[in-house]
Amino acid sequence: MRIADVRVTAIAFRDPPLLNVSGVHEPWALRSIIEVETDNGLVGLGESYGEDETLANLNAIAPTLVGLDPFDLNTLTRAVYARFGDEGDVQKTFPPQGDKARASALAAFEVAFLDLQGRLTGRPVYEILGGLARERVSYSAYLFYKFARHRDDPGYAPDPWGEALTHEQMVAQARRMVDLYGFGSIKLKAGVFEPDFEVETLRALREAFPGYPLRIDPNGGWTVETTRRLMPKFAGLLEYLEDPVNSLAEMGEVAKFSTHPLATNMVTIAFGHIPETVRLNAVQVILSDHHYWGGLRATQQLAHIGRVFGIGVSMHSNSHLGISLAAMTHVGAAIPNLAYACDTHYPWQEDEVIEGGKMRIENGSLAPPPGPGLGVTLDRRELARLHENWRTCGIRKRDDAKEMRKYQPDWSGRRPRF
Ligand SMILES: [Mg+2]
Repeated sequence: MRIADVRVTAIAFRDPPLLNVSGVHEPWALRSIIEVETDNGLVGLGESYGEDETLANLNAIAPTLVGLDPFDLNTLTRAVYARFGDEGDVQKTFPPQGDKARASALAAFEVAFLDLQGRLTGRPVYEILGGLARERVSYSAYLFYKFARHRDDPGYAPDPWGEALTHEQMVAQARRMVDLYGFGSIKLKAGVFEPDFEVETLRALREAFPGYPLRIDPNGGWTVETTRRLMPKFAGLLEYLEDPVNSLAEMGEVAKFSTHPLATNMVTIAFGHIPETVRLNAVQVILSDHHYWGGLRATQQLAHIGRVFGIGVSMHSNSHLGISLAAMTHVGAAIPNLAYACDTHYPWQEDEVIEGGKMRIENGSLAPPPGPGLGVTLDRRELARLHENWRTCGIRKRDDAKEMRKYQPDWSGRRPRF
């Protein structure tokens, strides 16, 4: 049994006007859906980024996978690396942007191959990965300051979340998140307003949700000195502080005076960053993401390295749909040292591309779909509808700063902001 066909379909789905340090989410988020079909008609699924660069890479690699055995992940890796070169992880100095194009292309296909392995053996992906370390994977409520609706999108009804520009509105957003999904921890996307205002939002959340672990993530929007000034205000508020500053060296500076663990999905984003991360003791929690670390097995390897160096592991997310959530949950269930509730944008997405519609996060957690494979199947009608969205939406690369300039013409999106 061999790979007979590989298809990559670009999609676009609705995304609310969520604010962050770069600007505001556009009305459409882009993804790619990967189908790897064997000569006996089984289809393995993957989900990845949907920008033009990713699509070009995936489409160039896809035909080179025909004829492969879905169990032969080393040959898959070589086929992917053939497009990008094989230097990355072993260089002495590693670029801050890592090897994202290469690792994300590998991840997109690796997940589909693992899905096929599960389908061929009648086993869920978490068993292919070594079995359950936990029955369910915990996720956190991911809060955003947001506008009530997109400015240039008159045909689209306002989303049910409403505006969140005040402390009270943010507490209401958190309440709705917790009521709907039972989340037991809360993350605030920050870097939007003056930091003292955002700390006040945290205080309002602490008052409304006593005992809930809280995190704040300004996406590198603060300077080292701003972070130093803010640090005493976090006493009693934070579980961890995520990416206050914008580089690994600056995170190392902050780590010298930080009273809280520092988490990142921005400065330690590839295996090549780990030696310097450890040398600087810059990060205490790595927010893994199988989409850019190189896949589900790479995520397991990262977790093991984290255990060796005493670095905690949790999970980052971008806007995504159910194939990604299933993959995140399978690997999360198979990692022994997943120490924190994972991030997910999933509650912000209304569209879905899998049969049966949205997966149900309950009590703040999700069990991996029972399989075989990832345990999800493609809804082809929805795939066609979301592909048509992509064809007509006019967005080919995410640009939150461009979108923000519709509201604030002089917006630069520069970092640090504060
Ligand atoms: Mg982050």
